[in-house]
Amino acid sequence: MEHPGISPSLLAWEETIPPRGGTAFTIKAGQICRIVDLEGQQVADFICFNLNDYVDKLSPENTQLLNGTLFLTKGHHLYSTKATQLMTITADTCGVHDIISGSCSEYTNSFRYGVRGTPNCRNNFERALRPYGIPLTEIPYSFNVFMNTPVAQDGRTGIQEPKSKPGDYLDLRADIDLLIAISNCPQERNPCNAFKPTTLQVVVYEVEPTGKGAPVQSSVKARS
Ligand SMILES: [Zn+2]
Repeated sequence: MEHPGISPSLLAWEETIPPRGGTAFTIKAGQICRIVDLEGQQVADFICFNLNDYVDKLSPENTQLLNGTLFLTKGHHLYSTKATQLMTITADTCGVHDIISGSCSEYTNSFRYGVRGTPNCRNNFERALRPYGIPLTEIPYSFNVFMNTPVAQDGRTGIQEPKSKPGDYLDLRADIDLLIAISNCPQERNPCNAFKPTTLQVVVYEVEPTGKGAPVQSSVKARS
C-alpha cells in the first residue's frame, strides 16, 4: 500500500489494527508514527511513555495547558506528566481530535449503558502493555485521534460522529524515544465510531536526513 508523502525507502514498518484491537511498540526519536483511518470515522485512542522513564507519560491535562487549546492539530505537541515534549503533530488531514474524553472502560460502559464485559480501550491498553510490565493503574488517559467532541459556548460537551474520511491520517513525530500504545476504539454504543468499529493502520517512517536537501547548496551556488 502506498502512503502519501512517504517514500518507500523511508518506511520502517506498518501494522494493521483490526476493529476493537490494540497494539504497543517502541519508536526512536525522530521517527514518525502515522495513524491512518482506512475506512473513515474510526477513533484511535493514543498514549505514549518516555521509553527511559515510564512515570514520564502522556498527560492530556498538560497537553491542553501547554498548547493553550482543547483542539490539537499540526504544530501542536504532546506533553507528559513532567512537561516533557513527547511528540509533535507534523501532518493532519482531518483536523478534528479529542484530548478531554479519556478512554472508554468497563466502568463507563457499565455506568452509561448498563452492560458488563464489553470490549473497551482501557482493557486494550492493559493487554497491549502487559509485556512492558505496565499495569492498568499506571496507564494514562488518552489523546483520541479522529474523535469528535465539540465544546459548546456554555461548556456542554457531547460525542459526535468523527469527521474523518477514508484515508485520513495524523502524523506524530517522536521527540524522544517512546513506548506507544494504540487502542482501535471498540465503542459502538454512542456516535464515537459512527456505531461501526473498523480497521486502522499504523505506519512508522523516517524523515529525510537533514543537510541532504538542495536549497542551501543551490543558493550558495547561485551566489558564486
Ligand atoms: Zn474507546
